[in-house]
Amino acid sequence: MRQVSFSQLMTYVRCPEHWLFRYKFGLKRSPKKVFKHGFALHETLAYHFDQKKKDGKGIPVAEAKEFFVGAFQNALEDYVIELEAARPFLTREYLSKEKGMKVEDLVESGLKGIEVYYKKLNQYIKPDLVEEAFEFPAGKGIKVVGRIDMTDKQGVIHELKTTRKSPNKQDIRVDPQLAIYQLGYHSITGKYPKAISKDYIVLSKKDSKIVRFQVARPFVDRATILRNVNAIMEAANRNIFYCLHPAESWLCSKEWCGYYTLHQELKKLGLQKFMAKYTKK
Ligand code: SF4
Repeated sequence: MRQVSFSQLMTYVRCPEHWLFRYKFGLKRSPKKVFKHGFALHETLAYHFDQKKKDGKGIPVAEAKEFFVGAFQNALEDYVIELEAARPFLTREYLSKEKGMKVEDLVESGLKGIEVYYKKLNQYIKPDLVEEAFEFPAGKGIKVVGRIDMTDKQGVIHELKTTRKSPNKQDIRVDPQLAIYQLGYHSITGKYPKAISKDYIVLSKKDSKIVRFQVARPFVDRATILRNVNAIMEAANRNIFYCLHPAESWLCSKEWCGYYTLHQELKKLGLQKFMAKYTKK
């Protein structure tokens, strides 16, 4: 059975061309301090939830902050190695944006984020499943695998996100990630969740805040998800990769995308020649 991870699927949904570079050719070219920062916050709260599931309390806020700083430091060590490996392929603009991203600012906003989480949300969350692995068959010999961040004892899935911009409520009901989590939850527990909650920590050095959106269930049903999983796998098999962003999109900019130089090369050569060049003989 072919296995596809939830994050691979989300990569294709967000950018099919990114899938080509990352999963077809195995090229890793997106070292970013903000990704390491998000990872460290995620690790910190996952650790807290796991403890809280065991003892009902979790770790105190001071310990969570310390854990976060340590996790971020470790992740930054990986970042330095990843950046060096990708440096020859990254644009000047990308490198200068990364250089301008100050570690002290990221630490400060992370600490503020942890503080606000403990103050506003922690008391309401009673973790049940934490970082629980799931898998479900998607037909045609495909299996989807992934992990649910956390569910609470009321059977609500919590997807915890950190962001720097205020999120939009409209997005949650059509969010493919939540639709897949719903099926993942069903595969673990045999029932559907009571609700799905997207809990955002909106990070800022001054006033980090919590924004939550909850829905009983996503708009996207099981049949649609399975159809889409199959369509993505079929498209990737048939080498259907394209850029779906409008011109001038910040996503496809020299500053943001680590694949910008490959993107330009693909545009110049065309898919056939590009594939021939990068496919290992
Ligand atoms: S340059 Fe644009 S289309 Fe290409 S991988 Fe980056 S975001 Fe996707």
